[in-house]
Amino acid sequence: MAEVLDVAVVGGGPTGLWLACELALAGVRVELFERRVEAVRESRALTLHPRSLEVLALRGLEGRFLERGRPLPTGHFAMLDTRLDFSVLDTRFPYTLFLPQAVTEALLEERARELGVVIRRGHTVEALRQDEAGVDLEGSADAGTFRIRARFVVGADGARSAVRRLSGIPFPGTDVTRTAMLGDVTLGAPPAQPVLGIATERGGVMVVPMAPGIHRIVVNDPLREQAPVREPVTLEELRESTLRIAGADFGMREPRWLSRFGNETRLAERYREGRVLLAGDAAHIHFPAGGQGLNVGLQDAMNLGWKLAAVVKDGAPEALLDSYSRERRPVGEALIHNTLAQTALMGATRETLALRAMLSGLLREPALNRQLANNIGALDVGYAPLEVPAPEVTLLPEWSGRRLSDVELGANTRLYAALHPGRWLLLGLGEDESRPLPRWEPGWPSQVKTLRARGSTRRGDLEGVGGLLVRPDGHVGWAWAA
Ligand SMILES: Cc1cc2nc3c(=O)[nH]c(=O)nc-3n(C[C@H](O)[C@H](O)[C@H](O)COP(=O)(O)OP(=O)(O)OC[C@H]3O[C@@H](n4cnc5c(N)ncnc54)[C@H](O)[C@@H]3O)c2cc1C
Repeated sequence: MAEVLDVAVVGGGPTGLWLACELALAGVRVELFERRVEAVRESRALTLHPRSLEVLALRGLEGRFLERGRPLPTGHFAMLDTRLDFSVLDTRFPYTLFLPQAVTEALLEERARELGVVIRRGHTVEALRQDEAGVDLEGSADAGTFRIRARFVVGADGARSAVRRLSGIPFPGTDVTRTAMLGDVTLGAPPAQPVLGIATERGGVMVVPMAPGIHRIVVNDPLREQAPVREPVTLEELRESTLRIAGADFGMREPRWLSRFGNETRLAERYREGRVLLAGDAAHIHFPAGGQGLNVGLQDAMNLGWKLAAVVKDGAPEALLDSYSRERRPVGEALIHNTLAQTALMGATRETLALRAMLSGLLREPALNRQLANNIGALDVGYAPLEVPAPEVTLLPEWSGRRLSDVELGANTRLYAALHPGRWLLLGLGEDESRPLPRWEPGWPSQVKTLRARGSTRRGDLEGVGGLLVRPDGHVGWAWAA
Protein backbone atom coordinates (compact mmCIF):
# COMPACT_ATOMS: atom_id res chain seq x y z
CA MET A 1 0.00 0.00 0.00
CA ALA A 2 1.10 3.60 -0.59
CA GLU A 3 2.42 5.85 2.17
CA VAL A 4 0.59 6.11 5.47
CA LEU A 5 -1.02 9.48 6.08
CA ASP A 6 -0.83 11.07 9.50
CA VAL A 7 -4.52 11.99 9.47
CA ALA A 8 -7.37 11.47 7.02
CA VAL A 9 -10.28 13.85 7.49
CA VAL A 10 -13.57 12.60 6.05
CA GLY A 11 -15.99 15.37 5.10
CA GLY A 12 -15.23 18.80 3.67
CA GLY A 13 -17.91 20.85 5.43
CA PRO A 14 -16.87 23.64 7.80
CA THR A 15 -15.75 21.23 10.54
CA GLY A 16 -13.54 19.08 8.32
CA LEU A 17 -12.06 22.06 6.52
CA TRP A 18 -11.09 23.85 9.72
CA LEU A 19 -9.67 20.70 11.25
CA ALA A 20 -7.56 20.09 8.15
CA CYS A 21 -6.31 23.70 8.36
CA GLU A 22 -5.29 23.27 11.98
CA LEU A 23 -3.49 20.01 11.29
CA ALA A 24 -1.67 21.40 8.27
CA LEU A 25 -0.64 24.49 10.24
CA ALA A 26 1.08 22.16 12.70
CA GLY A 27 2.90 20.36 9.88
CA VAL A 28 0.78 17.19 9.96
CA ARG A 29 0.39 15.28 6.67
CA VAL A 30 -3.36 15.49 6.22
CA GLU A 31 -5.69 14.71 3.34
CA LEU A 32 -9.38 15.51 3.20
CA PHE A 33 -11.90 13.22 1.50
CA GLU A 34 -15.16 14.81 0.38
CA ARG A 35 -18.03 13.08 -1.37
CA ARG A 36 -19.21 16.15 -3.29
CA VAL A 37 -17.47 16.94 -6.54
CA GLU A 38 -18.27 20.63 -6.23
CA ALA A 39 -18.64 23.04 -3.36
CA VAL A 40 -22.21 23.57 -2.07
CA ARG A 41 -24.09 26.61 -3.29
CA GLU A 42 -26.95 26.54 -0.78
CA SER A 43 -26.31 27.81 2.71
CA ARG A 44 -27.91 26.07 5.65
CA ALA A 45 -26.17 28.27 8.24
CA LEU A 46 -26.11 32.04 8.00
CA THR A 47 -24.22 33.04 11.12
CA LEU A 48 -20.81 33.08 12.75
CA HIS A 49 -20.98 33.67 16.46
CA PRO A 50 -18.48 35.50 18.72
CA ARG A 51 -16.45 32.43 19.73
CA SER A 52 -16.12 31.29 16.11
CA LEU A 53 -14.82 34.73 15.18
CA GLU A 54 -12.35 34.45 18.05
CA VAL A 55 -11.27 31.05 16.75
CA LEU A 56 -10.59 32.59 13.34
CA ALA A 57 -8.82 35.56 14.98
CA LEU A 58 -6.58 33.14 16.91
CA ARG A 59 -5.11 32.32 13.50
CA GLY A 60 -5.27 35.85 12.08
CA LEU A 61 -8.08 35.09 9.64
CA GLU A 62 -10.94 37.19 10.95
CA GLY A 63 -10.43 39.95 8.36
CA ARG A 64 -11.36 37.70 5.43
CA PHE A 65 -14.65 36.79 7.07
CA LEU A 66 -15.51 40.22 8.44
CA GLU A 67 -15.12 41.86 5.06
CA ARG A 68 -17.60 39.43 3.46
CA GLY A 69 -20.21 39.44 6.26
CA ARG A 70 -22.50 41.84 8.07
CA PRO A 71 -22.25 42.26 11.84
CA LEU A 72 -25.50 42.32 13.79
CA PRO A 73 -25.23 43.34 17.47
CA THR A 74 -27.88 40.86 18.58
CA GLY A 75 -28.68 37.18 18.45
CA HIS A 76 -31.81 35.29 19.38
CA PHE A 77 -33.12 32.49 21.53
CA ALA A 78 -36.16 30.75 20.02
CA MET A 79 -36.94 34.01 18.21
CA LEU A 80 -38.18 35.55 21.46
CA ASP A 81 -39.17 39.20 21.17
CA THR A 82 -36.33 40.28 23.45
CA ARG A 83 -33.20 39.69 21.45
CA LEU A 84 -29.87 38.71 22.98
CA ASP A 85 -27.54 41.67 23.31
CA PHE A 86 -24.12 40.56 22.09
CA SER A 87 -22.74 44.11 22.21
CA VAL A 88 -21.96 43.86 25.95
CA LEU A 89 -19.96 40.63 25.77
CA ASP A 90 -16.29 40.43 26.73
CA THR A 91 -14.87 39.81 23.28
CA ARG A 92 -13.37 41.71 20.39
CA PHE A 93 -16.32 40.42 18.34
CA PRO A 94 -19.48 41.41 20.24
CA TYR A 95 -21.89 40.54 17.43
CA THR A 96 -23.26 37.84 15.15
CA LEU A 97 -21.65 37.91 11.75
CA PHE A 98 -24.20 37.26 9.05
CA LEU A 99 -22.35 35.18 6.48
CA PRO A 100 -23.88 32.43 4.32
CA GLN A 101 -22.37 28.99 4.94
CA ALA A 102 -21.28 28.70 1.30
CA VAL A 103 -19.02 31.74 1.75
CA THR A 104 -17.68 30.44 5.08
CA GLU A 105 -16.82 27.14 3.42
CA ALA A 106 -15.18 28.86 0.43
CA LEU A 107 -12.98 30.93 2.76
CA LEU A 108 -12.06 27.89 4.84
CA GLU A 109 -11.20 25.95 1.71
CA GLU A 110 -9.04 28.85 0.51
CA ARG A 111 -7.11 28.71 3.79
CA ALA A 112 -6.78 24.93 3.59
CA ARG A 113 -5.33 25.11 0.09
CA GLU A 114 -2.90 27.86 1.14
CA LEU A 115 -1.64 25.53 3.87
CA GLY A 116 -1.18 22.71 1.37
CA VAL A 117 -4.06 20.45 2.43
CA VAL A 118 -4.76 17.85 -0.26
CA ILE A 119 -8.53 17.98 -0.86
CA ARG A 120 -9.87 14.95 -2.68
CA ARG A 121 -13.32 15.80 -3.94
CA GLY A 122 -15.62 13.15 -5.38
CA HIS A 123 -14.30 10.62 -2.82
CA THR A 124 -16.92 8.78 -0.76
CA VAL A 125 -15.71 6.74 2.20
CA GLU A 126 -17.55 3.41 2.41
CA ALA A 127 -15.44 1.08 4.56
CA LEU A 128 -13.24 1.52 7.60
CA ARG A 129 -11.11 -0.91 9.59
CA GLN A 130 -8.77 -0.02 12.39
CA ASP A 131 -5.94 -1.86 14.12
CA GLU A 132 -3.40 -0.86 16.73
CA ALA A 133 -1.25 1.17 14.36
CA GLY A 134 -3.70 2.80 11.99
CA VAL A 135 -6.95 2.91 10.07
CA ASP A 136 -7.71 1.65 6.55
CA LEU A 137 -10.32 3.53 4.57
CA GLU A 138 -11.90 2.43 1.33
CA GLY A 139 -14.39 4.09 -0.89
CA SER A 140 -15.48 5.05 -4.35
CA ALA A 141 -14.34 7.90 -6.53
CA ASP A 142 -14.94 9.03 -10.09
CA ALA A 143 -11.96 7.06 -11.22
CA GLY A 144 -13.14 3.84 -9.51
CA THR A 145 -12.23 2.93 -5.97
CA PHE A 146 -9.63 4.21 -3.55
CA ARG A 147 -7.91 2.79 -0.50
CA ILE A 148 -5.73 4.61 1.98
CA ARG A 149 -4.20 4.09 5.38
CA ALA A 150 -3.81 6.77 8.04
CA ARG A 151 -2.62 6.82 11.63
CA PHE A 152 -5.84 8.59 12.63
CA VAL A 153 -9.18 9.27 10.95
CA VAL A 154 -11.61 12.04 11.82
CA GLY A 155 -15.24 11.73 10.80
CA ALA A 156 -16.44 15.23 9.99
CA ASP A 157 -18.89 13.73 7.53
CA GLY A 158 -22.08 15.22 8.88
CA ALA A 159 -25.34 13.96 10.35
CA ARG A 160 -25.35 10.63 8.47
CA SER A 161 -21.66 10.02 9.21
CA ALA A 162 -20.35 6.83 7.63
CA VAL A 163 -17.25 7.04 9.84
CA ARG A 164 -19.41 7.04 12.97
CA ARG A 165 -21.46 4.07 11.77
CA LEU A 166 -18.44 2.08 10.53
CA SER A 167 -16.54 2.56 13.76
CA GLY A 168 -19.49 1.38 15.83
CA ILE A 169 -20.14 4.56 17.81
CA PRO A 170 -23.82 4.64 18.87
CA PHE A 171 -25.78 7.81 18.10
CA PRO A 172 -28.69 7.71 20.53
CA GLY A 173 -31.46 10.27 20.55
CA THR A 174 -34.86 10.96 19.08
CA ASP A 175 -36.28 10.82 15.55
CA VAL A 176 -37.96 13.66 13.72
CA THR A 177 -41.33 14.48 15.26
CA ARG A 178 -41.90 17.77 13.50
CA THR A 179 -40.54 19.68 10.55
CA ALA A 180 -40.24 23.30 9.47
CA MET A 181 -39.45 24.84 6.10
CA LEU A 182 -37.29 27.53 4.64
CA GLY A 183 -37.08 29.42 1.39
CA ASP A 184 -34.38 31.71 0.00
CA VAL A 185 -36.50 34.02 -2.13
CA THR A 186 -36.80 37.48 -3.62
CA LEU A 187 -39.32 39.66 -1.76
CA GLY A 188 -41.34 42.30 -3.61
CA ALA A 189 -42.43 43.82 -0.29
CA PRO A 190 -39.84 42.98 2.39
CA PRO A 191 -40.65 43.78 6.03
CA ALA A 192 -39.34 47.08 7.41
CA GLN A 193 -37.44 45.48 10.34
CA PRO A 194 -33.92 44.14 9.68
CA VAL A 195 -34.96 40.79 11.21
CA LEU A 196 -38.64 39.94 11.51
CA GLY A 197 -39.84 37.30 13.96
CA ILE A 198 -43.52 36.50 14.43
CA ALA A 199 -44.95 33.94 16.86
CA THR A 200 -48.71 33.45 16.98
CA GLU A 201 -51.21 30.68 17.68
CA ARG A 202 -51.13 30.07 13.92
CA GLY A 203 -47.35 29.39 13.95
CA GLY A 204 -44.06 31.23 13.57
CA VAL A 205 -42.34 33.09 10.73
CA MET A 206 -38.84 34.55 10.58
CA VAL A 207 -37.61 36.76 7.73
CA VAL A 208 -33.93 37.75 7.45
CA PRO A 209 -32.01 39.44 4.63
CA MET A 210 -29.39 37.05 3.22
CA ALA A 211 -27.74 38.81 0.32
CA PRO A 212 -28.67 41.75 -1.91
CA GLY A 213 -32.15 40.95 -3.27
CA ILE A 214 -32.51 37.67 -1.34
CA HIS A 215 -34.29 36.99 1.94
CA ARG A 216 -34.59 33.80 3.93
CA ILE A 217 -38.05 32.92 5.20
CA VAL A 218 -38.29 30.24 7.88
CA VAL A 219 -41.74 28.93 8.74
CA ASN A 220 -42.98 26.79 11.63
CA ASP A 221 -46.52 25.90 10.60
CA PRO A 222 -48.45 23.55 12.92
CA LEU A 223 -50.62 22.52 9.97
CA ARG A 224 -47.56 21.42 8.00
CA GLU A 225 -45.21 20.22 10.75
CA GLN A 226 -46.06 16.57 10.14
CA ALA A 227 -44.89 16.76 6.52
CA PRO A 228 -42.02 14.27 6.10
CA VAL A 229 -38.58 15.85 6.06
CA ARG A 230 -37.94 14.47 2.58
CA GLU A 231 -41.12 15.95 1.04
CA PRO A 232 -40.03 18.82 -1.22
CA VAL A 233 -41.27 22.29 -0.28
CA THR A 234 -43.04 24.28 -3.00
CA LEU A 235 -43.18 28.04 -3.24
CA GLU A 236 -46.97 27.83 -2.99
CA GLU A 237 -46.76 25.90 0.28
CA LEU A 238 -44.31 28.41 1.75
CA ARG A 239 -46.44 31.33 0.55
CA GLU A 240 -49.67 29.88 1.89
CA SER A 241 -48.20 29.18 5.35
CA THR A 242 -46.49 32.58 5.54
CA LEU A 243 -49.68 34.37 4.54
CA ARG A 244 -51.77 32.49 7.08
CA ILE A 245 -49.31 33.07 9.95
CA ALA A 246 -47.89 36.54 9.18
CA GLY A 247 -50.84 38.01 7.28
CA ALA A 248 -48.58 38.80 4.30
CA ASP A 249 -46.50 36.85 1.81
CA PHE A 250 -44.06 39.77 1.37
CA GLY A 251 -44.32 39.34 -2.39
CA MET A 252 -42.16 36.23 -2.38
CA ARG A 253 -40.96 34.92 -5.75
CA GLU A 254 -37.95 33.43 -7.54
CA PRO A 255 -36.99 30.76 -4.98
CA ARG A 256 -33.26 29.95 -5.03
CA TRP A 257 -33.59 27.17 -2.48
CA LEU A 258 -36.55 25.57 -0.70
CA SER A 259 -35.94 23.01 2.02
CA ARG A 260 -37.59 21.15 4.87
CA PHE A 261 -35.71 20.30 8.06
CA GLY A 262 -36.61 18.48 11.23
CA ASN A 263 -35.94 18.13 14.93
CA GLU A 264 -34.05 14.83 14.96
CA THR A 265 -31.78 15.14 17.99
CA ARG A 266 -28.82 12.88 18.71
CA LEU A 267 -25.44 12.90 20.44
CA ALA A 268 -22.62 10.43 19.79
CA GLU A 269 -22.09 8.17 22.78
CA ARG A 270 -18.36 8.92 22.57
CA TYR A 271 -16.26 11.15 20.34
CA ARG A 272 -13.35 8.72 20.12
CA GLU A 273 -13.09 5.05 19.27
CA GLY A 274 -9.39 4.14 19.22
CA ARG A 275 -7.88 5.93 16.25
CA VAL A 276 -11.18 7.33 15.01
CA LEU A 277 -12.59 10.64 16.22
CA LEU A 278 -15.81 12.47 15.44
CA ALA A 279 -16.47 16.20 15.15
CA GLY A 280 -19.27 18.55 14.13
CA ASP A 281 -22.62 17.20 12.92
CA ALA A 282 -21.13 13.70 12.87
CA ALA A 283 -21.15 13.96 16.68
CA HIS A 284 -24.27 16.02 17.38
CA ILE A 285 -27.49 16.90 15.54
CA HIS A 286 -30.45 18.96 16.67
CA PHE A 287 -33.14 21.33 15.46
CA PRO A 288 -31.26 24.31 13.96
CA ALA A 289 -32.33 26.90 16.51
CA GLY A 290 -30.21 29.85 17.56
CA GLY A 291 -27.75 29.30 14.70
CA GLN A 292 -25.24 27.08 16.48
CA GLY A 293 -24.42 23.82 14.66
CA LEU A 294 -21.76 25.13 12.32
CA ASN A 295 -20.26 27.22 15.10
CA VAL A 296 -19.96 24.31 17.51
CA GLY A 297 -18.47 22.19 14.72
CA LEU A 298 -15.74 24.77 14.11
CA GLN A 299 -15.06 24.91 17.82
CA ASP A 300 -14.85 21.09 18.04
CA ALA A 301 -12.27 21.19 15.27
CA MET A 302 -10.29 23.90 17.06
CA ASN A 303 -10.15 21.74 20.20
CA LEU A 304 -9.16 18.59 18.34
CA GLY A 305 -6.67 20.00 15.82
CA TRP A 306 -3.79 20.86 18.12
CA LYS A 307 -4.28 17.75 20.25
CA LEU A 308 -4.14 15.42 17.29
CA ALA A 309 -1.12 17.30 15.95
CA ALA A 310 0.58 17.02 19.36
CA VAL A 311 0.06 13.24 19.40
CA VAL A 312 1.16 12.77 15.80
CA LYS A 313 4.09 15.19 15.75
CA ASP A 314 5.14 16.15 19.23
CA GLY A 315 5.19 13.02 21.34
CA ALA A 316 2.11 13.88 23.38
CA PRO A 317 0.48 10.89 25.09
CA GLU A 318 -2.49 9.42 23.21
CA ALA A 319 -4.56 10.01 26.33
CA LEU A 320 -4.61 13.66 25.30
CA LEU A 321 -7.17 12.62 22.69
CA ASP A 322 -9.53 11.52 25.44
CA SER A 323 -9.53 15.07 26.71
CA TYR A 324 -11.13 16.05 23.38
CA SER A 325 -14.16 13.89 24.18
CA ARG A 326 -14.10 14.98 27.80
CA GLU A 327 -14.07 18.65 26.90
CA ARG A 328 -16.30 18.75 23.84
CA ARG A 329 -19.00 16.14 24.50
CA PRO A 330 -20.48 18.17 27.37
CA VAL A 331 -20.61 21.13 24.98
CA GLY A 332 -22.55 18.94 22.53
CA GLU A 333 -24.85 17.90 25.35
CA ALA A 334 -25.48 21.52 26.35
CA LEU A 335 -26.15 22.38 22.70
CA ILE A 336 -28.77 19.68 22.56
CA HIS A 337 -30.40 20.92 25.75
CA ASN A 338 -30.66 24.49 24.56
CA THR A 339 -32.00 23.55 21.14
CA LEU A 340 -34.60 21.25 22.72
CA ALA A 341 -35.66 24.13 24.95
CA GLN A 342 -35.88 26.42 21.93
CA THR A 343 -37.89 23.85 19.98
CA ALA A 344 -40.38 23.65 22.85
CA LEU A 345 -40.67 27.44 22.77
CA MET A 346 -41.50 27.37 19.08
CA GLY A 347 -44.81 25.63 19.63
CA ALA A 348 -47.93 27.57 18.74
CA THR A 349 -50.16 26.85 21.72
CA ARG A 350 -51.53 29.49 24.11
CA GLU A 351 -49.37 27.97 26.84
CA THR A 352 -46.22 28.30 24.76
CA LEU A 353 -47.06 31.87 23.83
CA ALA A 354 -47.52 32.69 27.52
CA LEU A 355 -44.17 31.09 28.33
CA ARG A 356 -42.54 33.03 25.50
CA ALA A 357 -43.93 36.30 26.82
CA MET A 358 -42.67 35.49 30.30
CA LEU A 359 -39.17 34.56 29.16
CA SER A 360 -39.04 37.60 26.91
CA GLY A 361 -39.77 39.70 29.97
CA LEU A 362 -37.04 37.96 31.98
CA LEU A 363 -34.54 38.55 29.20
CA ARG A 364 -34.98 42.29 29.64
CA GLU A 365 -32.96 41.79 32.83
CA PRO A 366 -29.38 42.57 31.64
CA ALA A 367 -27.65 39.87 33.70
CA LEU A 368 -29.92 37.10 32.36
CA ASN A 369 -29.70 38.41 28.83
CA ARG A 370 -25.93 38.45 29.06
CA GLN A 371 -25.78 34.93 30.44
CA LEU A 372 -27.80 33.52 27.56
CA ALA A 373 -25.94 35.65 25.00
CA ASN A 374 -22.65 34.25 26.34
CA ASN A 375 -24.10 30.77 26.04
CA ILE A 376 -25.38 31.09 22.47
CA GLY A 377 -22.20 32.95 21.48
CA ALA A 378 -20.21 30.05 23.04
CA LEU A 379 -18.11 32.40 25.13
CA ASP A 380 -18.99 30.56 28.34
CA VAL A 381 -17.18 27.35 27.46
CA GLY A 382 -14.42 26.46 29.88
CA TYR A 383 -12.65 23.19 30.55
CA ALA A 384 -11.36 21.24 33.52
CA PRO A 385 -7.59 21.45 34.04
CA LEU A 386 -5.63 19.45 31.51
CA GLU A 387 -2.67 17.34 32.53
CA VAL A 388 0.15 19.44 31.17
CA PRO A 389 3.55 19.40 32.86
CA ALA A 390 3.84 22.36 35.22
CA PRO A 391 7.01 23.76 36.76
CA GLU A 392 7.63 24.45 40.43
CA VAL A 393 5.58 27.62 40.76
CA THR A 394 2.47 28.53 42.70
CA LEU A 395 -0.36 27.66 40.34
CA LEU A 396 -3.73 29.37 40.26
CA PRO A 397 -6.09 26.42 39.64
CA GLU A 398 -9.13 28.64 39.06
CA TRP A 399 -7.56 29.82 35.79
CA SER A 400 -6.99 26.39 34.25
CA GLY A 401 -9.18 25.74 31.20
CA ARG A 402 -10.59 29.26 31.01
CA ARG A 403 -11.14 30.86 27.64
CA LEU A 404 -9.08 34.03 27.22
CA SER A 405 -10.50 36.96 25.33
CA ASP A 406 -8.01 38.93 23.29
CA VAL A 407 -5.95 41.37 25.28
CA GLU A 408 -3.26 43.93 24.52
CA LEU A 409 0.14 42.83 25.68
CA GLY A 410 1.75 46.25 25.53
CA ALA A 411 2.70 48.26 22.48
CA ASN A 412 1.63 46.66 19.20
CA THR A 413 1.14 43.12 20.52
CA ARG A 414 -2.04 41.27 21.25
CA LEU A 415 -2.54 37.88 22.82
CA TYR A 416 -4.30 36.40 19.80
CA ALA A 417 -1.55 37.59 17.45
CA ALA A 418 0.96 35.67 19.55
CA LEU A 419 -1.15 32.53 19.01
CA HIS A 420 -1.34 32.78 15.21
CA PRO A 421 1.29 30.03 14.71
CA GLY A 422 -0.94 27.60 16.65
CA ARG A 423 1.70 26.88 19.30
CA TRP A 424 1.59 26.92 23.09
CA LEU A 425 2.46 30.28 24.56
CA LEU A 426 4.29 30.85 27.83
CA LEU A 427 3.31 34.39 28.66
CA GLY A 428 4.86 36.48 31.40
CA LEU A 429 2.67 39.26 32.76
CA GLY A 430 3.19 42.09 35.21
CA GLU A 431 5.43 45.07 35.49
CA ASP A 432 8.41 43.34 37.08
CA GLU A 433 10.38 42.28 34.05
CA SER A 434 13.37 41.21 36.10
CA ARG A 435 11.51 38.12 37.39
CA PRO A 436 12.35 35.11 35.25
CA LEU A 437 9.64 33.02 33.59
CA PRO A 438 9.25 29.47 34.90
CA ARG A 439 11.85 27.20 33.37
CA TRP A 440 10.36 24.97 30.72
CA GLU A 441 11.38 21.33 30.95
CA PRO A 442 12.06 19.82 27.53
CA GLY A 443 9.42 17.26 26.57
CA TRP A 444 5.83 17.63 25.49
CA PRO A 445 4.81 20.24 24.52
CA SER A 446 8.16 20.98 22.97
CA GLN A 447 7.02 23.81 20.77
CA VAL A 448 6.36 26.56 23.26
CA LYS A 449 6.70 30.19 22.31
CA THR A 450 7.80 32.49 25.10
CA LEU A 451 6.67 36.07 25.40
CA ARG A 452 6.79 38.70 28.08
CA ALA A 453 4.05 41.33 28.01
CA ARG A 454 5.52 44.81 28.08
CA GLY A 455 3.79 46.98 30.63
CA SER A 456 0.32 46.45 31.98
CA THR A 457 -2.38 44.44 30.19
CA ARG A 458 -5.03 46.79 31.58
CA ARG A 459 -7.27 43.87 32.46
CA GLY A 460 -8.40 43.82 36.04
CA ASP A 461 -8.93 40.09 36.33
CA LEU A 462 -5.28 39.42 35.44
CA GLU A 463 -4.10 41.23 38.54
CA GLY A 464 -2.24 38.80 40.74
CA VAL A 465 -1.44 36.55 37.78
CA GLY A 466 2.29 36.26 37.12
CA GLY A 467 1.81 34.58 33.80
CA LEU A 468 -0.02 31.97 31.80
CA LEU A 469 0.68 28.92 29.76
CA VAL A 470 -1.85 29.33 26.96
CA ARG A 471 -3.06 26.40 24.85
CA PRO A 472 -3.05 26.76 21.06
CA ASP A 473 -6.86 27.14 21.17
CA GLY A 474 -6.69 30.18 23.44
CA HIS A 475 -7.69 28.43 26.68
CA VAL A 476 -5.45 28.55 29.73
CA GLY A 477 -3.23 25.51 30.38
CA TRP A 478 -2.20 26.84 33.76
CA ALA A 479 -1.49 30.17 35.40
CA TRP A 480 0.97 31.09 38.10
CA ALA A 481 0.76 33.69 40.81
CA ALA A 482 2.55 37.01 40.53
C1 LIG B 1 -32.03 24.82 7.96
C2 LIG B 1 -30.73 24.85 8.67
C3 LIG B 1 -30.24 26.06 9.15
C4 LIG B 1 -29.06 26.12 9.85
N1 LIG B 1 -28.61 27.31 10.32
C5 LIG B 1 -27.47 27.37 11.04
C6 LIG B 1 -26.97 28.63 11.52
O1 LIG B 1 -27.54 29.69 11.28
N2 LIG B 1 -25.81 28.61 12.24
C7 LIG B 1 -25.13 27.46 12.48
O2 LIG B 1 -24.08 27.51 13.15
N3 LIG B 1 -25.57 26.27 12.02
C8 LIG B 1 -26.71 26.19 11.31
N4 LIG B 1 -27.13 24.99 10.81
C9 LIG B 1 -26.32 23.78 11.04
C10 LIG B 1 -25.09 23.71 10.13
O3 LIG B 1 -25.46 23.82 8.77
C11 LIG B 1 -24.35 22.40 10.37
O4 LIG B 1 -24.21 22.22 11.76
C12 LIG B 1 -22.97 22.39 9.72
O5 LIG B 1 -23.05 22.34 8.32
C13 LIG B 1 -22.16 21.20 10.21
O6 LIG B 1 -20.91 21.20 9.59
P1 LIG B 1 -20.11 19.83 9.41
O7 LIG B 1 -18.87 20.19 8.65
O8 LIG B 1 -19.96 19.19 10.73
O9 LIG B 1 -21.05 18.89 8.56
P2 LIG B 1 -21.60 19.11 7.08
O10 LIG B 1 -21.69 20.56 6.75
O11 LIG B 1 -22.81 18.29 6.94
O12 LIG B 1 -20.44 18.52 6.17
C14 LIG B 1 -20.21 17.13 6.06
C15 LIG B 1 -19.53 16.85 4.74
O13 LIG B 1 -19.20 15.46 4.67
C16 LIG B 1 -19.43 14.99 3.37
N5 LIG B 1 -19.64 13.53 3.47
C17 LIG B 1 -20.72 12.89 4.00
N6 LIG B 1 -20.52 11.55 3.95
C18 LIG B 1 -19.32 11.35 3.37
C19 LIG B 1 -18.57 10.18 3.04
N7 LIG B 1 -19.02 8.94 3.33
N8 LIG B 1 -17.37 10.32 2.44
C20 LIG B 1 -16.89 11.58 2.16
N9 LIG B 1 -17.55 12.71 2.45
C21 LIG B 1 -18.76 12.60 3.06
C22 LIG B 1 -20.66 15.76 2.93
O14 LIG B 1 -20.76 15.81 1.51
C23 LIG B 1 -20.43 17.14 3.54
O15 LIG B 1 -19.76 18.00 2.66
C24 LIG B 1 -28.32 24.93 10.09
C25 LIG B 1 -28.79 23.70 9.60
C26 LIG B 1 -29.98 23.66 8.91
C27 LIG B 1 -30.50 22.34 8.38
